[in-house]
This record gives sequence, structure tokens and C-alpha cells, in this order.
Amino acid sequence: MANKVFVTRKIPDTGIDMLKVRGYEVTVSAKDGPLTKEELIAELKKGQYRAVLSLLTDHIDKEVFDAAGKECKIFANYAVGFDNIDLATARARDIYITNTPDVLTETVAEHTFALILAIAHRISESERFTRKGLYKGWGPMLLLGADVYGKALGIVGLGRIGARVAHHAVRGFDMSVLYYDVKRNEAFEKDYGAKFCSTVEELLPEVDYVSLHVPLMPSTQYLMNDTRLAMMKPSSFLINTSRGPIVEERALLRALRGNVIRGAALDVFEHEPQIDPLLFELENILLTPHIASATAETREKMAQIAAKNIIEALSGRIPPNIVQAR
Ligand code: NAD
Repeated sequence: MANKVFVTRKIPDTGIDMLKVRGYEVTVSAKDGPLTKEELIAELKKGQYRAVLSLLTDHIDKEVFDAAGKECKIFANYAVGFDNIDLATARARDIYITNTPDVLTETVAEHTFALILAIAHRISESERFTRKGLYKGWGPMLLLGADVYGKALGIVGLGRIGARVAHHAVRGFDMSVLYYDVKRNEAFEKDYGAKFCSTVEELLPEVDYVSLHVPLMPSTQYLMNDTRLAMMKPSSFLINTSRGPIVEERALLRALRGNVIRGAALDVFEHEPQIDPLLFELENILLTPHIASATAETREKMAQIAAKNIIEALSGRIPPNIVQAR
């Protein structure tokens, strides 16, 4: 049987070329946008693919696995997160699920830091102000922001990305770091003078910036709700580059409107791609469209890793980036 691979949306050529040079028959979805579930199922039924390169916008559940059939060995997700995939069903059917860790860590940490600096210094708000022609001259009280230097950063989820954000904070901006994670990392605490908090409630009142880096799971959904937002300092900022549903968007809206916290910067949204239009009315929120890993270099590396996982699986070897249920 030919090694047929389906790629659910156009990705950088480098990954596709790796598959083609092995002689695989690669079909890339021609649609300029995510496939609906019906479209994905129809394509998988038609194609008899042995591998699927999926994106975080594809919801891979039992029906999709049914459509892929018994010959399909792997779904290689083009993301480090894999909350879009039903892992239990994949395991029951011996289908490998892989992700693209590490290669995007630095880029996402950089984007997170860009958001921290931008919300503190009111960069997008100032840009909007300037473009509207509202700038009439330097003023001592014009658009006063908040310092980042020397402040306290709270990291929720000190994994690969969270640890690099903390690194930039400590080494670059002399910030102090507190972190909450289900696993304690004493070596990190020693290296960075960081303080471990055994609950998120312990961390929230202590810090000036809260940055979320936990995966989306039932235990982290709505981690930031009305109660927890109220535990943050009124002068503090919330940054989310993890997954949208970790923050209850309506609760955040209430907190921003009511000055419960000072501001927020989001790269991810509860109901992507929809964004609550009421958020657009606020000046104290900064929004980017799920682009934290979106540099040309990183997207190429992600394509290569996803391709490598497929090649290993179709060569009868264990792919390097199999994900585990949490
Ligand atoms: P990781 O697995 O290295 O880190 C996650 C950390 O969260 C781990 O240290 C883990 O112990 C901790 N954790 C898990 N459950 C927890 C809980 N209930 N409470 C507290 N801590 C918990 O993952 P990573 O590579 O650092 O990526 C983190 C997340 O970032 C991904 O799951 C993904 O959703 C998101 N992400 C978003 C983008 C983007 O484009 N915005 C890009 C890459 C990753």
C-alpha cells in the first residue's frame, strides 16, 4: 500500500518536501482555511491515508478516527498542545499522536515577553492614539504605563515555555519570579531565585504580572475565573499565550471593566476564532491572533518535526514526539 499522507492545511514546504523525497504521496488540503469536521471526514474516507498531519484547529475525535480507518498509523499534530485530539480513542486503536515540542519554546516565550512589555507600556493603545492624530505634543501625564523592571512575575505552569519566560524576566529585567505548577522544580528555584507556590491562590496576590503556560485540560479550564481574578492586585496584568479556555472570557471582561485588574494581553481566546466583541471596546486589553509561535523559522521547524514523526511511524519505528495523556 502506498504511503499516502494528508496534510489538513498548507504548512511550510520544508516539511512537505521531507515526505515527498521519501516517495510518499502527499495531499495538502486546497482550502484556504481550516476544514470543517465534515470536510475532514470526507477527505479521510476518500483517501485511505496512512498518516495525517493535523493542526490545532482540527478536532480529532472518534468519528475522525473512524473515517481515517485501520491503515492510518499516525496523526502528527502541528502544535505542542494537543487538547484538540481524543487521546483515549487514539490509544485504544494504536494510532500514534505526536506534537512539536521544544522548537517553538523560544518563539512563544519571546511573544509572551513582547505582550508583557507591550501591555505595560500601553504600546498598542499608544499606537492607536498616535495614528488617530491625537498626539498634540509631549505631556508629563500622557499615557502613563507601568514598569516591568524589578517587578514580580507569576508563572502558572513552569514547563518549557514558562521557564523561558521566567528566564527573560530574571536575567533581562531583574524581575522576581514566583511559580505555580503541579511539579516543583528545585533546580530552577536555585538558578533563578524563584519561589514555588503550592496553589495558584498563593501566587496571585503576590505578583504584578501573571503569565499562563499550563496545557488545556479539565483541571485548567477556567483556571482564571471571577474569584481568581479578584485575587490579583488591582495594578496587575494577566497574560495568556497558552489556550483560551484557561481564562473565562466573560469574567475577564468584568475584571477589566471594573478595574479589578489593570490590563490583559491575550494571544488565545475562549471560543476561537470568535472573540467576544465587547473586548474590542476596552483599551486595557491587547489582542494578538494566536500567533505566539508564528515566526518563519519556527514554523519551518515545526513542519520538519511533524514530518519526521510521520516518517518514523511509517518506517515501523516509534516516532520521537508521542504525547502522553495528562
Ligand atoms: P509543557 O508541558 O512543557 O509545560 C506545561 C507545564 O504545566 C508543566 O510544567 C506541567 O507540569 C504544568 N501543569 C500541567 N498541569 C498543571 C496544572 N493543573 N496546574 C499547574 N501546572 C500544571 O508545555 P509547553 O511546551 O511549555 O507549552 C505550554 C502550553 O502552551 C501548551 O500546552 C500550549 O497549549 C500552549 N502553547 C501556545 C502557543 C500559542 O501559539 N499561543 C504555542 C505553543 C504552546
